[in-house]
Amino acid sequence: MEHIIVIGGGIGGAIAHDLALRGFKVTLLEKGELLSGSTGRHHGLLHSGARYALHDVETARECMVENRILRRIAPEGLEQNDGLFIAVDEEDMTYHFPFLEQCRAAGIPAEEMILSTARRLEPNLSPHVKAAIKVPDAAMDAWRLAMHFFATAKFNGADIRPYSEVTGMLKQGATVSGVQVLDHRNRREYTLGGDIIINAAGPWAGIVAEQVGIHIPIKPAPGVMVGIDARLANMVINRLHPAGEGDIIIPQRNLSLLGTSVWLADNPEPLDVPPAHVRQMVTLCAQLVPKVRETPIHSAWTAARPLVVDDPLEEPTKITRGFECIDHESRDGVAGFISVFGGKATTMRAMAEEIVDLVCTKTGRSIPCRTKETSLMHWRRFYKN
Ligand SMILES: Cc1cc2nc3c(=O)[nH]c(=O)nc-3n(C[C@H](O)[C@H](O)[C@H](O)COP(=O)(O)OP(=O)(O)OC[C@H]3O[C@@H](n4cnc5c(N)ncnc54)[C@H](O)[C@@H]3O)c2cc1C
Repeated sequence: MEHIIVIGGGIGGAIAHDLALRGFKVTLLEKGELLSGSTGRHHGLLHSGARYALHDVETARECMVENRILRRIAPEGLEQNDGLFIAVDEEDMTYHFPFLEQCRAAGIPAEEMILSTARRLEPNLSPHVKAAIKVPDAAMDAWRLAMHFFATAKFNGADIRPYSEVTGMLKQGATVSGVQVLDHRNRREYTLGGDIIINAAGPWAGIVAEQVGIHIPIKPAPGVMVGIDARLANMVINRLHPAGEGDIIIPQRNLSLLGTSVWLADNPEPLDVPPAHVRQMVTLCAQLVPKVRETPIHSAWTAARPLVVDDPLEEPTKITRGFECIDHESRDGVAGFISVFGGKATTMRAMAEEIVDLVCTKTGRSIPCRTKETSLMHWRRFYKN
């Protein structure tokens, strides 16, 4: 079978899993520890898609489909705790019925909840709550859920190499035929030949594409998340309005994670944590759950989204969270090199399916995807020989 090289140990784990299941020889190269990019340190929301229902029904529908699949194939990476969208002022109320309609259009089961029931289930909600709608959001353990994919990929024969940075591409004419690798653990450089190279380097995908002289429409879009020292709700609490900043509180074990902010950056690193963003997250989330304001801060960190950005002047909260797969042979005349970027951690399996379908097309193989129905192994399995 053909040898496929995957660059990036984030959603790359789901790609390696899909490739291995379809019988390809796989090597995954990650410049740092696995999941040291955005996939291991995001907010931890398994989206129902409701967050995007008002302005991006396609992404909303995609999230709901993947939400159902992940609940089935990786239940141990999730808390099946649902989410509430709450309106806390008159402006939020103007979205009440459009939100229900758009959720219906996206196939998201959204259920109006009687306010007294919402308050009984979540006593810390703002006293100003005017409407509460239940959706099948869930809290995911960002790192563990993604590690389930790596564990299963490794079990099925994928060669997973952390601390292995791709520093250049090998080319034969207009074809990319392999990569140059810097092994940070053993301080050595080597080359590795491959039939197809998949660029899944997330916020770094633009930098990797530049190694073969290609431009792709991606922008790193960092955002700040704040962990506070109490679990103030059992469900995921969202503000009922078009996706904005500081409008989600996610329970994670005994903490609550507040998030997020968003801005566009030229580079994926270094990422700082602007103190003004931390204050903003606390202020905005306290409008949903007032106790946020008096709860000590446990931690604050930043991660970068790899957004598909066609217009850098677009308001960052409105930029699509959809994903793109690019065949650089048909688009740029460079064979042996394909890219996948954008999306959400929630949609990593779907991203993997689409890019591996492209691998099949390019290698002339017709092997159906089986990841929808294949249960993932527990993440601990990754560390067993
Ligand atoms: C603030 C914030 C909150 C979010 N919250 C959620 C959420 O609640 N739910 C959700 O579903 N999604 C969420 N997301 C989105 C999600 O985190 C990302 O869409 C997803 O993790 C991107 O995965 P990726 O693999 O493309 O990128 P990454 O996870 O960053 O992976 C890319 C990897 O490539 C590696 N790499 C780069 N260059 C090289 C090289 N030259 N050689 C080898 N390796 C290389 C990097 O080290 C990195 O590990 C959030 C994102 C942000 C920023």
